[in-house]
Amino acid sequence: MLPVTRKVLRMSISNIISGFGLFHRPDAVTEKALYEHTSGTAGAIPNAAASKTASDNKAALGTNDARFPLSLRALEKRYDSERQTLAGVDLEVNAGEFVVLVGPSGCGKSTLLRMVAGLESVSEGEILIGDQRVNDLQPGERDIAMVFQDYALYPHKTVFENIAFGLRVRGAERGDIEQRVTEVAAQLQITDFLSRKPAALSGGQRQRVAIGRALARHARLFLFDEPLSNLDVKLRNEMRVEIKKLHQQFGITTLYVTHDQIEAMTLADRIAVMANGKVEQYGTPDEIYNQPATTFVASFIGSPEMNLLTLPLNTQAGVGGVLLGDLFLPLPAEFSAYQGDEVVLGVRPEAVLRAQGQTETTAACLLLIEPLGAETIVTLSVHGKQIAGRWAAERTLTTATTFPIAIDRTRLHWFDPNTRANLALQLVDPAISAEAHA
Ligand code: ADP
Ligand code: MG
Repeated sequence: MLPVTRKVLRMSISNIISGFGLFHRPDAVTEKALYEHTSGTAGAIPNAAASKTASDNKAALGTNDARFPLSLRALEKRYDSERQTLAGVDLEVNAGEFVVLVGPSGCGKSTLLRMVAGLESVSEGEILIGDQRVNDLQPGERDIAMVFQDYALYPHKTVFENIAFGLRVRGAERGDIEQRVTEVAAQLQITDFLSRKPAALSGGQRQRVAIGRALARHARLFLFDEPLSNLDVKLRNEMRVEIKKLHQQFGITTLYVTHDQIEAMTLADRIAVMANGKVEQYGTPDEIYNQPATTFVASFIGSPEMNLLTLPLNTQAGVGGVLLGDLFLPLPAEFSAYQGDEVVLGVRPEAVLRAQGQTETTAACLLLIEPLGAETIVTLSVHGKQIAGRWAAERTLTTATTFPIAIDRTRLHWFDPNTRANLALQLVDPAISAEAHA
């Protein structure tokens, strides 16, 4: 076969494959834009073909200082005139920080990430990396590495060439490319596969290669869009640890998107919980778990979910509170300004206790037992209200039996049923209250 014909044939096959999305999603094309560059614009990276200087080569290898802050200011996105996909996002990511964006499908996580990468335009607002406004920079000029859920590897390139890609297109020197790829491959334990094509790798190995490609060039910012979602649970757990180690080692500022709350809790320095194109709460995993700003955050993080019970506000001996079965749970004194007829009580399953000598208890009927080995999840009915408890492994439980339970009163959460905001925030900070009402 003539070389030309072969080339044409190969091209058309690859087009067909990418057209059917077997290996490539459109992301593969756009990801390419991240590693490439446009010439003629400010900050453009020197072309591989042009005569190279030592400083060109250094630029191609990336930054030596991995620590850049990222600021998102009043960021908005409209794909069309009717709907606002992002409705004003403010987010400050400190230099070297690992921030996880978490939220239900469709809330705008990928859109946000792609805007930071330059793969989507910004409708309103500003994106700053360090003190540089990057809104109008091409993806390749932003000095960002991104890992996608479906890897977006180049199917016709070997693992080595996939990892080397970002360095190669920017014109790094051969020896440096060789060194970087070797280092990264060793770190990710994929040295043995360097000459294989992606099709000959397992899902976990492919994901390692995708991470390797992002790591090879020292970027200012690391973006991950659900990188572990396609892996089975065991691999996901392993890769999660791997990613955490890599971050500890390199300290690159990272924005990581997931809908997996375990990934969010274990990886993040801070978590941004998103809903409907907005950040509902931004805080440390401890703050998100123990001081959820809204019922949405309270129920999104934690498994089983926090029990949320809308109950009438009663008074006993002059004190306001709610009745859960026979238990009177007083509203904390600092919420005495609260005016509603009802209140939402939040109780984490681990604050629902099997009574052991407590004086204040209520009867609960056991509806369902889910043994998980180390612990047992129970579903209880307390005077008709269904609540979940997380107990140490119990072998003696029988459904349809009734026994006393107690509630850990130091761990109660109180929300306004109208605004869905935590009273601790709503009654303390009028600004947050106004926002929750809006
Ligand atoms: P997430 O990653 O949180 O699941 P996305 O950012 O992918 O959410 O999508 C947020 C919303 O924006 C969805 O309603 C989605 O349909 C819409 N959307 C995403 N990309 C586009 C696009 N290219 N054109 C129009 N609408 C889009
Ligand atoms: Mg997404």
